[in-house]
Amino acid sequence: MTIYCSKCVYPDVSAVPLSFDEEGVCSGCHVHVKKSSIDWPRRWEQFKELVNSYKTDNNYDILIPVSGGKDSYYQTHVAKELGLKPLLVTYHGNNYLPEGEANLFRMREVFDCDHIIIRPGVDTLIKMNRLGFRVQGDNNWHGHCGIFTSPIQVAVRYKIPLILWGEHGFMDLGGMYSYSDYVEFTAKHRLEHSLRGYDWSDFTDAGLEKLGLSAFKEGLTAKDLLWAQYPSDDEIDSVGVRGIYLSNYVDWDANNHTKLVVEKYGWEPARQPFERTYRRFSNLDDMHENGIHDYMKFIKIGYGRATDHACKDIRGGVMTRAEGIEMIRKYDAVKPRRDLERWLKYVNMSEEEFDYTLDGFRDHRVWRIENGQWVKDNIWGGSSSYGAVHQDNTTTFRSSRKAS
Ligand SMILES: [Zn+2]
Repeated sequence: MTIYCSKCVYPDVSAVPLSFDEEGVCSGCHVHVKKSSIDWPRRWEQFKELVNSYKTDNNYDILIPVSGGKDSYYQTHVAKELGLKPLLVTYHGNNYLPEGEANLFRMREVFDCDHIIIRPGVDTLIKMNRLGFRVQGDNNWHGHCGIFTSPIQVAVRYKIPLILWGEHGFMDLGGMYSYSDYVEFTAKHRLEHSLRGYDWSDFTDAGLEKLGLSAFKEGLTAKDLLWAQYPSDDEIDSVGVRGIYLSNYVDWDANNHTKLVVEKYGWEPARQPFERTYRRFSNLDDMHENGIHDYMKFIKIGYGRATDHACKDIRGGVMTRAEGIEMIRKYDAVKPRRDLERWLKYVNMSEEEFDYTLDGFRDHRVWRIENGQWVKDNIWGGSSSYGAVHQDNTTTFRSSRKAS
């Protein structure tokens, strides 16, 4: 039976590593509560001291990975307020919403910053969408890889030792680390968590052969995936690259930050509501992130972004747990028609293949089969069926995480 956190709405089988105490409260809620006892003014002084020690006379002081989202604007706002000269770096996966792309391109205007945007070839991206989906049930593996590779490549090439990230998702959502850890970016976390154990070499023809997945070959070589190749330890050491998280130094509040960047810089949220969540200010850099990518998460482990957003808003005190559950009821199981249509056309795939493939990634700790239907427990009690079984061989669960 699925266990849900008694304070927020996270289930025990989660994309973010979580643990529960005897009262049924998750580690994410525990770490969040600690935020109120942190001496934030002192943290801010620590932050200033740290970034000032990286100020230079003839180079960029800091590199900021940006998607053009509200967090990117907030990070850049902070850096400019401190008189730093940032270099902005973006991985562009070719699926921006128009308003998200407008926010991105405006950054060099409103912040007067230099901005490097890395855009892989479109044919390669389409192949990577298909491969990510077929190999590990995630069309956006390339996006996770690009976001956590491009900034480090640029930092090495431009010799900028300090990278300023926003939030550490696994810490803020799941409580994987504490605020007293001052956790920093690591190559290990990138590979094992963000990339689920897969690296670029797994998606070349040679790599797929090694995984026993020759049927999925797309003809990709190492040269097609230069943007996905993480720099060597020697390259990183020679510059001394390190990545810090701003959320360790300021009392991070997404709703307040959004208000600030809308008022001060004219940042624009999504014009149309999303099909699978109520928030309009997250993930404008990838139209599929709140759509089919998130639907894949629901099929795999039984919850989606409405759950993530409700957890944040319940902890932030802007939503009750009961209201959060209503949002989950309304959004988590929705099959995003508008978004699915666009993606299937983009990668030239049938809906049958989509459904059939995804069924193979269902986590059997969450899903069971009753009378040819997929059934799971609900946070509001009891269980419901969520569609027919497509996959013939439903006993083989293919994890989205690479077996090591
Ligand atoms: Zn919780």
